[in-house]
Amino acid sequence: PDGARVPVLIVGSGYGGSVAALRLAQAGVDVHLVEMGMAWDTPGSDGKIFCNTREPDYRSYWLRTRTKAPLNYFLGFPIDRDIPRHTGVLDAEEFAGITVYQGRGVGGGSLVNGGMAVTPRRENFPAILPSVNAGEMYDVYYPRANAGLGVGTIDPAWFEGTDCYQYARVGRKHAQRSGFPFVFVPDVYDWDYMEQEAAGTVTKSALAGEILYGNNHGKKSLQKTYLARAKATGRVAVSPLHRVTTVAPASGGGYRVVIEQLDTTGAVTATKSVTADRVFFAAGSVGTSKLLVKLKATGALPNLNGEIGKGWGDNGNVMCGRANHLWDPTGSLQSAIPCCGIDNWAAGGAFAEVAPLPTGIETFASFYLSITNNPNRAQFTWNAAAGKAELSWQTAWKQPSIDMAKSIFDKINSKEGTIYRTDLFGVYKVWGDHLTYHPLGGAVLNKATDNYGRLTAYPGLYVIDGALIPGNTSVNPFVTITALAERNIEKIIATDL
Ligand code: FAD
Repeated sequence: PDGARVPVLIVGSGYGGSVAALRLAQAGVDVHLVEMGMAWDTPGSDGKIFCNTREPDYRSYWLRTRTKAPLNYFLGFPIDRDIPRHTGVLDAEEFAGITVYQGRGVGGGSLVNGGMAVTPRRENFPAILPSVNAGEMYDVYYPRANAGLGVGTIDPAWFEGTDCYQYARVGRKHAQRSGFPFVFVPDVYDWDYMEQEAAGTVTKSALAGEILYGNNHGKKSLQKTYLARAKATGRVAVSPLHRVTTVAPASGGGYRVVIEQLDTTGAVTATKSVTADRVFFAAGSVGTSKLLVKLKATGALPNLNGEIGKGWGDNGNVMCGRANHLWDPTGSLQSAIPCCGIDNWAAGGAFAEVAPLPTGIETFASFYLSITNNPNRAQFTWNAAAGKAELSWQTAWKQPSIDMAKSIFDKINSKEGTIYRTDLFGVYKVWGDHLTYHPLGGAVLNKATDNYGRLTAYPGLYVIDGALIPGNTSVNPFVTITALAERNIEKIIATDL
């Protein structure tokens, strides 16, 4: 409520925010979790909370009047459609050189992501988080994160026989014939549930094209894991459709946090102010970076250091499709949950997910999201005249990612006698180089913060999300974000509270 005083306020309810909420509540601290997206706990008139990728409706996008699908063309035709403006679950946030996809709602990115739960190879860890003790991470915090998230792996025997992973088996065959290491990838999707979907005994979710705009069953989003446990402590209050706009030192100690309440059209219906002893920034790499550069530049938190906004990367994301021969169909039924990848990181700087194209028809296409070792890093700055944060990323900075992805797919194409699809991202456009699903950095650990996420110029202010990670995790990022949050919150609880 307006004018309240709380011990801890957390901005954002994704991985970082959910870990902080659970561990602080377990330590006996009352927590107020503020989330600008919706609660996503109430079904619409069709009985479903989320819509699927084939029929995007008002629930699909955050405050857009037209969809902005990551794969925006099919057979050379644009597939985006008009939708009512609504506080939908997927934000396609446009900066000058890149569109950054993010989840909006209680659960953050866990509502919209593929659930691929990948722990980086240990030899890659020093490049991911150079100031963090790898032994502690691999002995304690990665296992803790994997357990807390409910990570599991597909039954290999079921994988071999099910229609819904025909596309993945084709991806494996092509990878192996070109000599690339093929790996199964763990996921937070409930694999038993998926087997029942395939058997026709439960309501379909992954097998009904549910993914980008939410899963109604099967996926263990944070709502079902960390946040469920946090709420069960009785110490966590959650305010959905509330957006934090300002944090500044309060005259009587602590921090004054200004919060706008939104309706489902995105209009501000009330402005509230709360005083918090401690504030955790967990608004995601983009959300936290945007807030911090604004607060520094506008004089709310002028003593934040010069590293704020820097070190932002796209995890090297780049997409492409390949056109298969007619004897290599990828299947009309495709599970929307990816389960495998091609690991050419050491040799070529690319880790490629074998991704679904759950269109419901046979496409003879293999589709891939590559994570690459792209060295480019961008910076958020505050544009006072425009009143908004900007990101310096340029589209041309994806070229190293394209080159690294080609280290896999040029070889496969030449071996198989196949070509790239040119109809998925435009007309005669091979590479999906305009976007990322994996924003990382902007308030980098041990640079913008101390080695545990403290914004040391302001005791009681912390960063605890993907903004801490300097731009690349070599694999999908949320397990690393979760494990780092577990590490940092344990230290903060032990020493600061
Ligand atoms: P987020 O999860 O982004 O949470 C931040 C939250 O803060 C959001 O809910 C946001 O609405 C809220 N917020 C922002 N600003 C404010 C504000 N001012 N006030 C209040 N609230 C605010 N990663 C993987 O590891 N595996 C995958 O398979 C995978 N697939 C993906 C697929 C898609 C389509 C997308 C978009 C992402 C995917 N990711 C995947 C990435 C993963 O979801 C993110 O890395 C992760 O969610 C980031 O966690 P976070 O805690 O940093 O922030």
